Amino acid sequence: MKAGHFAKSIRLENVRKSYGSQIVLDDLNLHVEPGEFVSMLGPSGSGKTTVLNLVAGFDDPDAGSVLLDGGNMTGIAPEHRNIGVVFQNYSLFPHMSVAENIEFPLRMRGVSKAERREAVGKALSLVALDGFGDRKPEQLSGGQQQRVAIARAVVFNPDVLLMDEPLGALDRRLRGDLQLEIKTLHEELGVTIIYVTHDQEEALSMSDRVVVFNKGRVEQEGKPREVYRRPATLFVADFLGDSLSISAMASGDSVTLRELNTEVASSGHGLQGPVRLLWRSDQVSLAGANDPGDRILTMPATVETVAYAGTITRMRVKTSTGDIGVIEAAEDSEFAAGDAIVLALDLDKASLLPADEDNR
Ligand code: ADP
Repeated sequence: MKAGHFAKSIRLENVRKSYGSQIVLDDLNLHVEPGEFVSMLGPSGSGKTTVLNLVAGFDDPDAGSVLLDGGNMTGIAPEHRNIGVVFQNYSLFPHMSVAENIEFPLRMRGVSKAERREAVGKALSLVALDGFGDRKPEQLSGGQQQRVAIARAVVFNPDVLLMDEPLGALDRRLRGDLQLEIKTLHEELGVTIIYVTHDQEEALSMSDRVVVFNKGRVEQEGKPREVYRRPATLFVADFLGDSLSISAMASGDSVTLRELNTEVASSGHGLQGPVRLLWRSDQVSLAGANDPGDRILTMPATVETVAYAGTITRMRVKTSTGDIGVIEAAEDSEFAAGDAIVLALDLDKASLLPADEDNR
């Protein structure tokens, strides 16, 4: 991460926001470093767009503050915040050409004609649309229109760039291309980016840090690998991908798998009572002929469904303890529903989570 010249930090402190009787953000605290690319990931309705609206100034918090480089933004109109915004639906001005669309924020800021022309030219090449300036938005594909919207959002060197599901309307292939382009643009400009998505792959692959939202609260935040490999809750584990987890009891420093009558030494977890031991689907292997060793738990299971997924095969399995999860097998494996298998679970790779069934 390289913070650009204009990049600024964003801080939300004890922010509350309700619509009517519905609490949308509940005492939210969030910090984004200058030049950082942070994704807000979470199910629909968890409050992500509301955060963007508060940062952009389209709405005000009921309590708490939004700070830009330490300065309180309360009462400052959106057009005076020097923040670029990209929405899912492009929202280009249909009657204006591509160049006029990109030029618009510069006009609003009273930038001279010569400077505008130069900045628009640079922005067009930044999004690989040189030569498209005279077209109307309707003459462009969805992906090209979104590139124009991105150029318009960065042409005035914003302190922060907010992106709300910017690739949500595009097909999968195009989304992949634009993900890489946005990542490159972030590296080139060094601008602070807050990116909203409900697509976990997008959040994991693009960001410096991922903030997982659940019901208006931050459920977990961290580097993509941390939240993926070390989810703090079952909600995060489920939201970020497939896994297998089994129930256990924590007491003192040990975790006991009751059904298996096995005790697992596991110090420093600080949990008591019902817990779950969780493995990502790629961390579960099938037991082989070799002695598995004392840190590998072998567990019989039944294959319930098999789904071929190109590079791998995904299998839903039910363990002898009655737990259900998804594991990965080789692309060419020939398992079928009903097959009996034996899983090899590496205790050193397990995440230990509170059982917390209500929050799944
Ligand atoms: P997300 O972006 O995570 O999908 P939002 O922040 O858009 O979530 O919405 C969170 C909740 O706030 C939703 O239940 C939504 O219906 C409600 N909400 C958002 N904006 C408004 C509004 N202007 N008026 C009333 N309710 C709203």
